[in-house]
Amino acid sequence: MLMRRSLVDRETTRGTERPVIRILPWLNVIKIGGHSIVDRGREAVMPVVEELAEALADHRLLIATGAGIRSRHIFSVGLDLGLPTGVLAALSAADAEQNGHIIATLLAQHGVVFLPHMLVAHQLAFFLTTCPGVVMNGVPPYDLWEFPPEEGKIPEHRTDAGTFLLADSYGAQRLIYVEDVDGIYTADPKTNPDATLIPRVSVDELEAMNLETLPLDRLVLPLMRTAKHQREIQIINGRTPGNILRALRGEHVGTILYSGDRMVDPKA
Ligand code: ATP
Ligand code: MG
Repeated sequence: MLMRRSLVDRETTRGTERPVIRILPWLNVIKIGGHSIVDRGREAVMPVVEELAEALADHRLLIATGAGIRSRHIFSVGLDLGLPTGVLAALSAADAEQNGHIIATLLAQHGVVFLPHMLVAHQLAFFLTTCPGVVMNGVPPYDLWEFPPEEGKIPEHRTDAGTFLLADSYGAQRLIYVEDVDGIYTADPKTNPDATLIPRVSVDELEAMNLETLPLDRLVLPLMRTAKHQREIQIINGRTPGNILRALRGEHVGTILYSGDRMVDPKA
């Protein structure tokens, strides 16, 4: 059918809705917040690193890093100079990569290495059956091809979106975002003392709340709607000892953000 029809034909597109295999169904993907964890230095990073090291005994981990404060700085300089979105995306990727090298260096004694995107895309299975964990840059490799956003110029595919897309492609078992707040609140808890934690929320419900700010890239919400596997993200506080291990064991900590079933793989 695909060879006879145009690829812009709607019926052709609908006809490609098939169950997708889970490439690495045992994979656990953890995104470490750049701003909320790495930027805080030793006090916040070391307890997280120690917990990740403990987790490596029982779980195979793909650890992605966020870009943090250096990216806000480079965005502001780049915007001032009139740089396009694709260049801003490439500059920000350099910051998230630095954070990745920091985390990988601290976990090196446990066999963890930093992998560039090409190796994550082609050799992740080999690495994770040889060592229990690898670290990657959370910024997806759109680079100069980054989509121009509808509003403003800041690249929309940042590290939460990048980590989500990769976890969905691999059909990962679990996806966890490690932040410095307990999960998604009704408002930013750092500036609103009345904000309350939302323990479990669907993408539809969260969009309907129309919150001014979120602790994750807004683009993750539409991405969750079209994902083939990844139905859940757990957003947890990495400053609370034991939370990463609890989330990896499947316990409910923080906020569980979920989307409805779109297409269930009968073999999953
Ligand atoms: P990076 O994106 O560089 O990896 P990060 O994800 O660690 O950084 P932020 O992007 O700043 O950090 O997101 C986490 C922050 O979002 C929290 O520290 C919190 O103050 C803020 N925040 C804003 N709105 C909310 C909300 N509705 N619920 C919870 N936290 C919120
Ligand atoms: Mg963030």
